[in-house]
Amino acid sequence: MTQLIDGTEERHQALTEQLTAYVDEELSAEERTQMQPHLLGCTRCRREFALQRALRARLAGQPTTRASAALRERIATALDTATERPSDSVSQVWATNIVRGLGACSNG
Ligand SMILES: [Zn+2]
Repeated sequence: MTQLIDGTEERHQALTEQLTAYVDEELSAEERTQMQPHLLGCTRCRREFALQRALRARLAGQPTTRASAALRERIATALDTATERPSDSVSQVWATNIVRGLGACSNG
């Protein structure tokens, strides 16, 4: 059982779901105030934040392209695998965000 320094695992889960919005600067001042101390104390969230920020910066410089059907199929398979491992929920959220991003790309 993982006990985080600044709170419960539940708090980590809740904030993990807001991490993308935090990276995109879409959180309210109050939500940011909750996120920042958690980020300082949580290695997993810091790593996730760095990954998402790097991905965001990278996507910002890329032309919009459509993911191949094969790639989307592989991601869907990976998502199915992730849901079978509830302890790895950060990766699951991450994969969900990737699929959402790919969907946004294919609509453009
Ligand atoms: Zn966390």
